[in-house]
Amino acid sequence: MDNRAGFTADQLAAITEGLDRMACPDSAEVIISADFVSDVRSILRSSTYGIARGTGVVGAKTIPVSADHQIVVVNADSAAQLNPGQLRRMLAHEAGHVLIAARSEELPSDDHTWIEDQVLTSLAAAALDEYRVEKALYAQGFELAHGVDWSAVGDLTEEVNLAIVSAVVDKSNSDDPEILAGDIAAVHDWSSKVLAYTVAAVASGALDDVLQVPPVHQADWDDYMDTTWPQRMAAYISAPDATTPMPTMEHQDLISRLVDVERHYLHALGFFYKRYPDTWGFFRRQDNQLFDARLRRAVDAAARRDA
Ligand SMILES: [Zn+2]
Repeated sequence: MDNRAGFTADQLAAITEGLDRMACPDSAEVIISADFVSDVRSILRSSTYGIARGTGVVGAKTIPVSADHQIVVVNADSAAQLNPGQLRRMLAHEAGHVLIAARSEELPSDDHTWIEDQVLTSLAAAALDEYRVEKALYAQGFELAHGVDWSAVGDLTEEVNLAIVSAVVDKSNSDDPEILAGDIAAVHDWSSKVLAYTVAAVASGALDDVLQVPPVHQADWDDYMDTTWPQRMAAYISAPDATTPMPTMEHQDLISRLVDVERHYLHALGFFYKRYPDTWGFFRRQDNQLFDARLRRAVDAAARRDA
C-alpha cells in the first residue's frame, strides 16, 4: 500500500479489512493519493479525467492495467471524510472491481463498430460492473450503501433534469453536436451507475422493492426513468455478482440486451444517434412541449434549492 497522504494506522486498517473481506487479489496495488486527479490522469495517460459527478465526488477508482495488475487509487481528500465502516465498504467495493478485472472479463474490441455502439456498450458494461460489485457486497453482509435509497433516486432524477436542461440551453453546445453528445453521455454515465447501485440494493433486499420516489420528483421520474426501469432491473438481476465469473457468451448477450436498455434511456433523455454512410449525427428529439416542461421543472427545482 502506497500511503502518499499520511493516512493513520486506523484508516489503513479499515482499508485492509475492506479489501480482505472481498478476498481482493494480490494483483491489486493500492495508492492513497493526495492528488487524486493528477495521479489518475498519469496512470490513465489522460488529460481529461475529472471527478465532477452529478451526485457527488469520486472516492476511489480501480484502473485495470492488465490481468496481473490493477491500481486502486483512493482519493484521500474525500476518503478522509469517511468513518472506518464507510472506508471499509469503499475499499470492498473497489476489490469487487479488481475481481472482475483480474479475470479479464472483457468484451471484444469495438474497433469496427460505430459511435452509438461504442458509447452505449461502454456505458452498459460500466453500469453492469457497478451492479455486480454492489451485489457482491450485499452478499458479504455489507450494509446499504451510503446515499442509496429512494429519496436519493428522486434527487438523481432532479439532477438529471437539471443537467439535461443545462446541456440543451448551453450555447457552446448548440454550435457543436459532438460536445453536446459528450455532455449527454456524461449524464447518461453517472445516472446509469446510480441506477445500477439502486437495483443491486433492491435485488439484495437492502432496499424496499416498491418504487417510492418522493412526490416532488415524480414528474422527473416518469419523464426519464419509468419506461426503462423494469427492463434495466430485469437485465441486471440475471447477472452473477462480482465474485462469480461470467461466461463470455452470457456476458455478451447481456451487454447487447443492456445496450437496448441504454438506447431507450438515451431516447428518454431526449436524444438519439443517427448513422450516415461516412459519418454520424446526434439529435435532440423534436418535441418542444417536452423540453418546455423540463425547463419549467428545472426552474422550479432551482427555486426550491435557493429557498
Ligand atoms: Zn464502482
